[in-house]
Amino acid sequence: MDDIHAAKVARISAQIAAFSKSKTPFRVFHGSTNSTRVLQFKKNEFVDISDLHSILAIDVKKRLAHVEPNVSMDKLVRATLRRGLIPPVVMEFPGITVGGAIQGNGGESSSFKWGAFNQTVTSHEIITGNGEVLQTATDKHPDLFYGVPGTAGTLGILTVAELQLIPAKKYVVLEYVVVHNFSEAKKVIESLSRNKTNDFIDGIMFSKDRGVIIKGVLSNRAVGTIVKFHRARDQWYYLHVESSVLTHVKGWKETVPLEDYLFRYDRGAFWVGRFAFSMFKVPYNRVTRFILNPLLNTRKLYQALQESGQSQQHIVQDLVLPAKNFVKFCQFVDQELHTYPLWLCPMLVDTKATFQLNNLKTTSIINVGVWGAGITNYGEFVEKNRAIEQRVLQLEGKKWSYAYSYFTEQEFWSMYDKKAYERLRKAYHSTNLPTIHDKITIKGQLPIQKKKALIKTIFGISKLKIN
Ligand SMILES: Cc1cc2nc3c(=O)[nH]c(=O)nc-3n(C[C@H](O)[C@H](O)[C@H](O)COP(=O)(O)OP(=O)(O)OC[C@H]3O[C@@H](n4cnc5c(N)ncnc54)[C@H](O)[C@@H]3O)c2cc1C
Repeated sequence: MDDIHAAKVARISAQIAAFSKSKTPFRVFHGSTNSTRVLQFKKNEFVDISDLHSILAIDVKKRLAHVEPNVSMDKLVRATLRRGLIPPVVMEFPGITVGGAIQGNGGESSSFKWGAFNQTVTSHEIITGNGEVLQTATDKHPDLFYGVPGTAGTLGILTVAELQLIPAKKYVVLEYVVVHNFSEAKKVIESLSRNKTNDFIDGIMFSKDRGVIIKGVLSNRAVGTIVKFHRARDQWYYLHVESSVLTHVKGWKETVPLEDYLFRYDRGAFWVGRFAFSMFKVPYNRVTRFILNPLLNTRKLYQALQESGQSQQHIVQDLVLPAKNFVKFCQFVDQELHTYPLWLCPMLVDTKATFQLNNLKTTSIINVGVWGAGITNYGEFVEKNRAIEQRVLQLEGKKWSYAYSYFTEQEFWSMYDKKAYERLRKAYHSTNLPTIHDKITIKGQLPIQKKKALIKTIFGISKLKIN
């Protein structure tokens, strides 16, 4: 491990040891976020780990990368691609970090094969709540190694992760299968997921009777047209798919360069970016999307979201469901929320990481992204979020922690093993950190500041709030 990294870890460890000694509650600040929860920190009650953003080593022979936790997905992909490799799970937003994906929830279209991001991680370096630096792996502190994923930094601070890598190829060849209802979508997803020669599977439902399931295979040979999605003049990915569904009865094939595929949903943040147009009464068309392109990537959209508090007016939730209950959940969304498009993504079950969201008692999981238009009445907004949560509980699913939780404490812990969590907190001295429930639960309404947020985002002066 290099000296610069060791010095950073020594500083963070000393600060945490001091918090532990004085019994000061503290939180972790890692410099960015892809969470929709508005981040706020109290002066002198957080540990700043934002300088942990280096790639320490890439071992081509062993196909492993040693990285600090704030390495973003695009930085990681660029570095590994130079050696002909990529991580098997690369989250669709380029600013998502290695640490955030392990401590939060990270998954994408290769998760049907590899699981969540943490399932591709072979070891961690973690600073526990008393400042001790531990190495964890399947055979070193396995309770902590499997305990940390999904706990939002409430069991310790991650300072290094060792990640698996796989050979990269030049393209992803995509095959689109048009579906006409939720049951057909489930059937196609499950059948494609059984074939592990596929590398990527996700889907979009544009309405209850029109959708598409997308299968991707890594390849050095292009098939059909080559389509790109990263340039201002390119169509946003979901709009490209939506218009293509109208002209193809059964499906179609096309090829996307690898990096364009991995970050295909960056421009427009899937389709969430379209809400900014209606909010500021700007026409939503190809010309306005081209002109405003610099503001419409996920990094910029998240800055605006953090500054504005706007996440309190949009239902933005991801829910994992046992596949057997997927259709019932989609029918609920259709009838109660009328939200479209819906994003579908199958995930491998994780039987080991106790607090990870894809640790469900089932054999097959489908994630549903429900990202809806504005609700200005806060009471109605909370009610709708609660309705989603209740349905997810009834259908034995879980929800992603990037969004606020509206569960009661009892409901929240009915999904997780509270005793095991408390044992880990005690064993690793992390009780000065908030609990997961405290950290992600909504505390009340925050002010909404749309115009101020827009100005700060345009001039690049937005920052997370430190009181
Ligand atoms: C519309 C929408 C769609 C999305 N789609 C996807 C998707 O398809 N796939 C996906 O993976 N994600 C998706 N996300 C985001 C995602 O769920 C998480 O926010 C992301 O995985 C983590 O992002 P981050 O790196 O910014 O970490 P953050 O969200 O900032 O961090 C996650 C948690 O981990 C803690 N943490 C971070 N680093 C450390 C560390 N080193 N040590 C201890 N604790 C730490 C943070 O304090 C926080 O509690 C989506 C979000 C939205 C809004």
